[in-house]
Amino acid sequence: MTIINSNIREIKKTNKKEDSFLDFNSITGGDIRHDWSLKEVKEILDLPLMDLLWRAQIIHRSYNPGYKVQLASLLSVKTGGCSEDCSYCPQSAHNETKVEPVPALQVKSVLDRAKAAKESGADRFCMGWAWREIKDGKAFDSMLEMVKGVRELGLEACVTAGMITDSQAFRLAEAGLTAYNHNLDTSPEHYSKIISTRTYQDRLETLRRVRMAGITVCCGGIIGMGESISDRASLLKVLATLDPHPESVPINALVAVQGTPMEDLSSIDPLEMVRMVATARIIMPKSRIRLSAGRKQLGREAQILCLQSGADSIFYGDTLLTTGNPEVDADRKLLADAGMKVNFCQE
Ligand code: SF4
Repeated sequence: MTIINSNIREIKKTNKKEDSFLDFNSITGGDIRHDWSLKEVKEILDLPLMDLLWRAQIIHRSYNPGYKVQLASLLSVKTGGCSEDCSYCPQSAHNETKVEPVPALQVKSVLDRAKAAKESGADRFCMGWAWREIKDGKAFDSMLEMVKGVRELGLEACVTAGMITDSQAFRLAEAGLTAYNHNLDTSPEHYSKIISTRTYQDRLETLRRVRMAGITVCCGGIIGMGESISDRASLLKVLATLDPHPESVPINALVAVQGTPMEDLSSIDPLEMVRMVATARIIMPKSRIRLSAGRKQLGREAQILCLQSGADSIFYGDTLLTTGNPEVDADRKLLADAGMKVNFCQE
C-alpha cells in the first residue's frame, strides 16, 4: 500500500481539481477488502471507461510493477462426454457438438506436452478433465502422477476436473498441486439459466475444500451468456467477498459453439471484457487476473487494454481446452509490442 499511497499523493499534488476522482480510499477502502457490496462493484463496473481504466491502472501498476505476465498453457486430458449440462460447453453430453468423447491422455503424453509448454515459455501448466466430479481409482491415480510430474518439471500445476471430496483435495495437495480451477461461471441470480445439474452452492463447497487442503484457488466466470451488467457485478462481488480472494481469476468471454444452446448468441463488445478485467483488478488487487477463453475474438488492441488495466496472465499457444487459442508466435509478438515482461515467479 505504501507505493500506491505515494503514487496517489504525487498525483494529487499535481492535479488538485481531480481530488474526488483520485480518492484511492473511496475506490478500494485503502486495503484488500472482502466486504464489497453489489452496489459498490456495480458502480465501479459502470464508471466512464476512461475513469475505470485510470483507476484500475493505478492499482495494477502498484501491485505489479513492470506489468509482468504469467504464461499458462492448458491441455485437455479428458475431452468430451461430460454428464453436466453447462449450456455453453461443447464437451457436455447434453449438447450436440462436434466434440466427440475421447479416452483420457496417458501420463507420459501429458508430461511430454508439459515439457513442450515449458520449452515454449509457459510456467504454469493447466490440465482439464471433462468430468462432473473426480472419482477415486485409476484415472485419479494418473492425475496425481501427472501433477507430480508437472511439478518436477518446475512448472506450476493446475487441475480442473469438477467437484472433489476432502480426501481427494488433500491427496492432490500432497502431490504438489499448485491450484485447482473451479469456476462460478456467472452470478448466483443468472446461474439457473446456464446449468441445472449442479448448484451454485456445490461450486462454493468445492472451492472451500480446495482452500482447506492448502491448494490455491483458481475461480472466475464467463461473460456474454445473456447476463445483465448487474449479473456481472454480482459474480465479481461473490469472488471479491471470498476470504482470501482466489489467487487466480480467469475472465472468459463466451465462445458460442455450434450445437450448444448458446450457439446464436452474439460476441460481446471487447470493451465489456476490458471493463470486467479492470473491475476485477480494482476489487481483487493481488489476484492474478487471467485472460482466458474468448481472447482470440478480442483483437490485439483490446487484449493490450486488458493487460494495461489489470490482466497479468494469458493462456498461451496450444489449445484452450476445445476452442482455438492464438498461436505462440502471435502471443510473443503481442507481449513484445506491448512491452510486457514474462513472469517466471512461482505462486
Ligand atoms: S463440467 Fe466442465 S466439461 Fe462438464 S459440461 Fe460443464 S464446463 Fe463442460
